[in-house]
Amino acid sequence: MTVSSPPQRTDVLVVGAGPAGSAAAAWAARTGLDVVLADAATFPRDKTCGDGLTPRAIAELELLGLGDWLSTHPRSRGLRAHGFGQTLHLEWSEGRGRKAAGNLPAYGSAVARTELDDHLRTVALKSGALGVDGARAISVRQEAGRVRGVTFKGAEGTFEIECDRLVVADGVRSPVGKMLGREWHRDTVYAVAARSYVDSERSDDEWISSHLELRDDSGSIVSGYGWIFPLGGGQVNLGVGTLATAKRPAEVQLRPLMKLYADQRRADFGVSGELRMPTSALLPMGGAVSGVAGPNWMLIGDAAACVNPLNGEGIDYGLETGRLAAQLLTEESDLSAAWPALLTDHYGEAFSISRRLAGLVTVPWVLPKLGPIGMRSPWMMRLALRWMGNLITEEDRDAAARLWRLAGKGSQRLDARPPFA
Ligand SMILES: Cc1cc2nc3c(=O)[nH]c(=O)nc-3n(C[C@H](O)[C@H](O)[C@H](O)COP(=O)(O)OP(=O)(O)OC[C@H]3O[C@@H](n4cnc5c(N)ncnc54)[C@H](O)[C@@H]3O)c2cc1C
Repeated sequence: MTVSSPPQRTDVLVVGAGPAGSAAAAWAARTGLDVVLADAATFPRDKTCGDGLTPRAIAELELLGLGDWLSTHPRSRGLRAHGFGQTLHLEWSEGRGRKAAGNLPAYGSAVARTELDDHLRTVALKSGALGVDGARAISVRQEAGRVRGVTFKGAEGTFEIECDRLVVADGVRSPVGKMLGREWHRDTVYAVAARSYVDSERSDDEWISSHLELRDDSGSIVSGYGWIFPLGGGQVNLGVGTLATAKRPAEVQLRPLMKLYADQRRADFGVSGELRMPTSALLPMGGAVSGVAGPNWMLIGDAAACVNPLNGEGIDYGLETGRLAAQLLTEESDLSAAWPALLTDHYGEAFSISRRLAGLVTVPWVLPKLGPIGMRSPWMMRLALRWMGNLITEEDRDAAARLWRLAGKGSQRLDARPPFA
């Protein structure tokens, strides 16, 4: 239910109704807690994104009960990787041997965020959360480190909602996180990316496509990739992303690069017409933030930099951290150490090794030298898809999963600043 006059207090206040906040609100409300889900925007609202849903995101959406809804949207079998003279078709389920026990769905999808986020928010409200939209959080009232309430600015003026617990799900820039001391560290890899919508003859393609050999107008290889994610109805999400670090900032102009990429795809993807709604954004990745929790508050989703450094996906992590946060709220009275520990347990190894590998890609000679070698080996690319696509589950015991965990542990030992620290 969306309310016209906001409540004065609640057990759990969730700020931000993207995938992370809506998932947290839905799961928390389902445990019987009073939940308020507040957002600065009025829904439906757009969000700069590739709109791609990997099997891990599908798994979370199914857990929330959205299986039937998903079946009315495009399904992808896997990733079609293009580049360095090769095209490889990599099924989502490929490379998952007998010992890969974790049962992730074998399909992905893509749903425009205007629709996905509105639907997820509705699920949270139907689960019992109270929705307050058009309300921007502008300050936090704290006593001895505990959050007592958040002040919002809405159309009618300012008002405070008192809360026992606060879940901060306010995205990349996390203004509320900042008020609580969140810091984003750019010494490890982050991304800048742009997306648009465009007409394409391949809008019903059963593969999502990535072009790993992305070239700028001078013909130089850019450390990133271009994507085309089919949305059905004659439309695709087309975008480009590039990786950077504080030492090697991205020097590329994203929107011209996206236009160039679209022009290059006019023949093979039947791309036609103008790019619609072009927007760009930054992506903190791999847990590169500190200050993710206090006694009665926690950061989730992008606010906690829970984005895969190797492919930029964050919807699945948003949904997962939302569910994990709601669960922890029922188990722990002090979140200060428990939440970073849980995040590190779930994502520490994978984020540590992924951001190290992604950081390597920002070194100018690495992609031109290693890209062609990788693309010549379908076996290596299948392995890479599983690692890069966050497709290793905790239950997996096969060689690829064990190697990934080993590399993650080794990488953690070398980290000057571990994820979430
Ligand atoms: C170009 C690009 C392409 C991407 N492509 C993909 C992809 O294909 N697949 C994928 O999985 N991920 C992708 N991502 C990442 C993905 O978009 C994010 O990881 C995901 O949106 C994180 O969800 P969230 O709920 O944490 O934050 P968000 O979705 O950003 O939601 C945050 C919410 O907080 C609200 N908010 C902010 N400030 C305040 C405030 N002060 N008060 C109240 N409310 C506030 C906002 O209005 C917003 O609704 C991409 C990102 C970019 C930039």
